Amino acid sequence: MSARILVVDDILANVKLLEAKLSAEYYIVLTASNGFEALEVAREEQPDLILLDVMMPKMDGFEACKRLKSDPALAHIPVVMITALDQASDRIRGLEAGADDFLTKPANDLALFARVRSLVRVKMMIDELRLRDETCKELGFDSAFTAIADEDLSGRVLLVDDRPNAANTIKSIINDKLYSECMIATSREAAMNSVRFDKPDLMLINAGMESYDGLRLCSEIRSSPQARHSSVILMVDHGDYRTIAAALDLGANDYVMRPLDENELIARMRSQMRRKCYADQLRDNVHNSLKMAVTDPLTGLYNRRYAVPHMQTLIERSDPEKSPISVGLLDIDHFKNINDTYGHGVGDEVLKEFANRIRHNVRGVDLAARIGGEEFLVVMPETSQAAAAVVAERLRASIAAKPFKVSHEVGQINITVSIGISAGVDPAETPEALLEHADIALYRSKNNGRNRVTLAGTENAAA
Ligand code: GH3
Ligand code: MG
Ligand code: MG
Repeated sequence: MSARILVVDDILANVKLLEAKLSAEYYIVLTASNGFEALEVAREEQPDLILLDVMMPKMDGFEACKRLKSDPALAHIPVVMITALDQASDRIRGLEAGADDFLTKPANDLALFARVRSLVRVKMMIDELRLRDETCKELGFDSAFTAIADEDLSGRVLLVDDRPNAANTIKSIINDKLYSECMIATSREAAMNSVRFDKPDLMLINAGMESYDGLRLCSEIRSSPQARHSSVILMVDHGDYRTIAAALDLGANDYVMRPLDENELIARMRSQMRRKCYADQLRDNVHNSLKMAVTDPLTGLYNRRYAVPHMQTLIERSDPEKSPISVGLLDIDHFKNINDTYGHGVGDEVLKEFANRIRHNVRGVDLAARIGGEEFLVVMPETSQAAAAVVAERLRASIAAKPFKVSHEVGQINITVSIGISAGVDPAETPEALLEHADIALYRSKNNGRNRVTLAGTENAAA
């Protein structure tokens, strides 16, 4: 899908020029001729990138950018300001309004297109994360976002420069203005080590090092799993658009030109930290929601929603001749009595301790899940029914052997469990059939006096 770019300029000739250039690169171009219209089109069309002129009547680009960035539905859309203003103070004003970049007219095509490609790439990644987050919300998981004030933005910064003096100067600027821990690496090896062990949030790399090619380092960092999500800013010589374009295409997030303007450097670092922080939060939300979706909140074991499809996967993978999968269904005996006698809270304590004992008595490859109120499931891959019976007997004994400590004044309660075991010997076995066979065996265990293990098909009490 090609990206949609909104071009905002009050001078029609400027709009037409940019539109022609972008269309030639197969972008879809939307246009607006002032700040108000830009906000309206952005809201309606949700473009992937906005190229924003600064000097416009009624509402200027700074104000339009501020409003875009303070609207939660639009804040994730990257904005590049394009203007005739070329003072550092103007650039900083733009960055502080939330712009992702500030290019001076006439914009250098190479730099412009590399910038457009890079921002569109990041936007697509954020869109994917937003979509997943949205799905989690639809599934009923709240996503928590904390807006972070500029003063509170902090993170670990890695500065890569083989000139120790210059590096120290930059480090003191960062320490002063960014409240961030700043590490220095003066060689490629030191940089890659730091990437591995310090996991920096943001890397500032000198493109013009004597000892190593900064661009090469940038691409190495991008392909390293530990730094995939970190931000990279390259320091380049003034006007070196070839290096800038190459860096952005290699996955650098931004660049600063030397001689460095302190405030611009800090503004760009802040905007990268804000972006990373947002993406991290989206990623964490999705991760936590997924974890919650498959976890039983009381015991921390997997839930039924996870366990049954997981059984299906194991069945498909297993070779039933050699290694059937076995399942154990566990049901606490007379659990209702515990609730009735000591209260629901004590019942919950018992369930938690019960889950812990299961955890300690199954192997790492086995999967333990809570699939009902006081019903638990243990899935044992590559385990014969006889071997599963041994595990089940160990489990049964570990429950019965030691009373459960509870907060009630009685102090402790004796608990027993009944277990049914079935094995997937038929290649066409389904999880449902395995569970059903185990359930029949479990029923036998209950009928034969509880606190015992029964194997499906044998109806023999093994304990
Ligand atoms: P049996 O030996 O035949 O299995 O008897 P039982 O009392 O264990 O079985 P029954 O199915 O009659 O009762 C299960 C009880 O488990 C009833 C229900 O209130 C309780 N229960 C279900 N979920 C929870 C929970 O999350 N916490 C607590 N405390 N109790 C629960
Ligand atoms: Mg029970
Ligand atoms: Mg029950």
